[in-house]
Amino acid sequence: MRKKSLYPAAMQQTKPPESGTMQVAGAEVAYLIVRSAKRRRSVEFRFDAARQLVFRAPLRTSTAHIRRLMAKHEAWIVRQLARLHAAPAKVMTAFVDGNNIDYLGKPLRLEVQQAPSRIKVARHKGSRLRITGESLDADAVRAAVHGWLRQQATTRFPRRVALWARRMNLPYGRVLVSNPRRQWASCSYKNDLRFSWRLIMVPPRLLDYVVVHELAHVVQKNHSAAFWRLVEATLPDYRQRRKELQALGSRVLP
Ligand SMILES: [Zn+2]
Repeated sequence: MRKKSLYPAAMQQTKPPESGTMQVAGAEVAYLIVRSAKRRRSVEFRFDAARQLVFRAPLRTSTAHIRRLMAKHEAWIVRQLARLHAAPAKVMTAFVDGNNIDYLGKPLRLEVQQAPSRIKVARHKGSRLRITGESLDADAVRAAVHGWLRQQATTRFPRRVALWARRMNLPYGRVLVSNPRRQWASCSYKNDLRFSWRLIMVPPRLLDYVVVHELAHVVQKNHSAAFWRLVEATLPDYRQRRKELQALGSRVLP
């Protein structure tokens, strides 16, 4: 009988990622080396959204080899850094360990843990969001976090619509969750209600305003005085909520 390994096979095929910094043309460049047995030949590298240079390399690649690669591609690195610094800072820093994202109007702290497994996202102790998995650079974390937020929106929004529709005594079509670029929500001629999943980031009372607004469109397909009267009859403080939502728009919308 063969002796069983102490670790699952996946554990033996990766090493913990190695991070460090290197001076390139006078600038300090942070790098992360992710070695994997799945990768047999070439070393690939690119900057992630946190301005970290991420190398994906075969298992036996030495750190010295990676450093030589950085020196060799100095001109490219300088160009990329200049481009990244010109881009908006918001996206650059949001999806790294220790940073907060907005969830239901409250901060949720990101805990990023490298592990030899597929990427998993789970809420932890109420105020933390733990992302575990392999090769987690800022782009991978952002994709995983967005996926999780969207999933929460898909679960919560239909319940919220059902609640307000009962109170307003209104019918509606389907409830859809998507990612529109400019608006929070819309109501189709068939009374299908479509919401941006990003509303999961704002306080629930502001989501409620959007829900009531779209439900009012079931009766009034415009923004007439009659439309606003219906909104106000349901939410007397809707003006305040609308103002707060507008203020959050630039923070939450892409
Ligand atoms: Zn409207």
